[in-house]
Amino acid sequence: MFANVPEASHPAGLARLEAFIPHAGADYARGRNHDLGPEGDNAVSALSPWLRHRLLLEETAIDAAIAAHGLDGAEKFIQEVCWRTYWKGYLERRPVHWHDYRAACDEAHGQVAKDRRLAADLRTALDGDTDIDAFNFWVNELRETGYLHNHARMWFASIWVFTLELPWALGADFFLRHLLDGDPASNTLSWRWVAGLHTPGKPYIARSSNINKYTQGRFNPGYRINTQVEAPEGVERPPVGPSPLAVDWQATPTTGLLITEDDLLPESLFGEGDWPLVIAVQSTDWRSSGPVAARVRDFAHAGLADALARNPGARAIGPIDLASADGLTAVREAATAAGVDRLLTPYVPTGPTADAMAALDPVLAADGIERQAVPRDWDVLHWPASTHGFFRFWKAARPMIMERAGSGSLSRGG
Ligand SMILES: Cc1cc2nc3c(=O)[nH]c(=O)nc-3n(C[C@H](O)[C@H](O)[C@H](O)COP(=O)(O)OP(=O)(O)OC[C@H]3O[C@@H](n4cnc5c(N)ncnc54)[C@H](O)[C@@H]3O)c2cc1C
Repeated sequence: MFANVPEASHPAGLARLEAFIPHAGADYARGRNHDLGPEGDNAVSALSPWLRHRLLLEETAIDAAIAAHGLDGAEKFIQEVCWRTYWKGYLERRPVHWHDYRAACDEAHGQVAKDRRLAADLRTALDGDTDIDAFNFWVNELRETGYLHNHARMWFASIWVFTLELPWALGADFFLRHLLDGDPASNTLSWRWVAGLHTPGKPYIARSSNINKYTQGRFNPGYRINTQVEAPEGVERPPVGPSPLAVDWQATPTTGLLITEDDLLPESLFGEGDWPLVIAVQSTDWRSSGPVAARVRDFAHAGLADALARNPGARAIGPIDLASADGLTAVREAATAAGVDRLLTPYVPTGPTADAMAALDPVLAADGIERQAVPRDWDVLHWPASTHGFFRFWKAARPMIMERAGSGSLSRGG
């Protein structure tokens, strides 16, 4: 899908949205499950790298789809964008799944270090050298483009867990290190869903006939795929925690702006501030203890630079790499030098950037600098419904989206 690293800017996200919107109705509903390969004329939008970094907002994509096709006409596309919102809310309210995933990665690395056969099987999979040509193709496609079609992600994860019998967390880690849209919520929870850890008794089982049909005959792995799968037992159901509430914020002359790669449109939240200091911080390497692909880091870096350019301040600093030895103290020193005692930032949801913020906060506090996170209305409104399955979420989200679109008056078509 992306032969070169796509442009990580707000205008580039808007341009891709504009090009896609004529196809967000019936074309998308009809063709979205087909993966025609990186060179193919796919019906999906490939908007995820921009949506993931909030170089494009969910509501911008949804509003544009409704304006062109009506809510009914673009319902499939809108639902898919809402899957993103749903997963974000779901993880935010159960951050334990993120922390358990990180622990599962560490545990799996420990197993690999002790078990030569497992280490060899993992290497074979990561090299795209298995006896399943479809799987090998997707390994290389992901490495070379930073993108996989949703259906390919489902088949890949299912084969990883149930045929290659590799630890699911290491597959999720491979995705998170290579996907331009690598997202702690969508990725961790989708892998859990495939592995049968999300909906008890319902793992996702990839089948050759389905792969053959939806790749239009490009692949037919036949008997090589294991379909005799037993659902894991004893799936945990952690209690549901709170959802972030709206925050009253005010910028004073000593309030700076902190931009993270989780929200690269701060001006749409805070307006054009008269900032004494704007700092952009990069947390891409916090995604994993393993190496993150250069194109993933480059995309986030360019997005941060774009956000810095859109949000001028008396001083502009960054992007500062928070994984570098002096990254955290560099932020504190910049804030102190600019006389800033508070850094406003768009709310950072559970995941690697929030982990980096948890390390940054005490460093800032040592110099009396506070970080204040402000959630977006979209998240405050929708995340409370991320309590059970997606369809319950959608039941709550649809009327709110209708209301947004003007009491459903835009709806046309079916
Ligand atoms: C194992 C696995 C891992 C995944 N990891 C990620 C990830 O790290 N980051 C990520 O953004 N998505 C992830 N997804 C969800 C989905 O595959 C991608 O969002 C989608 O393929 C992106 O391509 P697109 O922009 O062309 O999607 P489109 O079909 O054009 O959808 C439009 C937008 O809706 C959202 N969306 C669509 N489908 C989903 C979905 N199932 N879950 C959540 N959001 C969705 C995305 O923001 C996407 O850009 C994963 C799915 C699976 C099965």
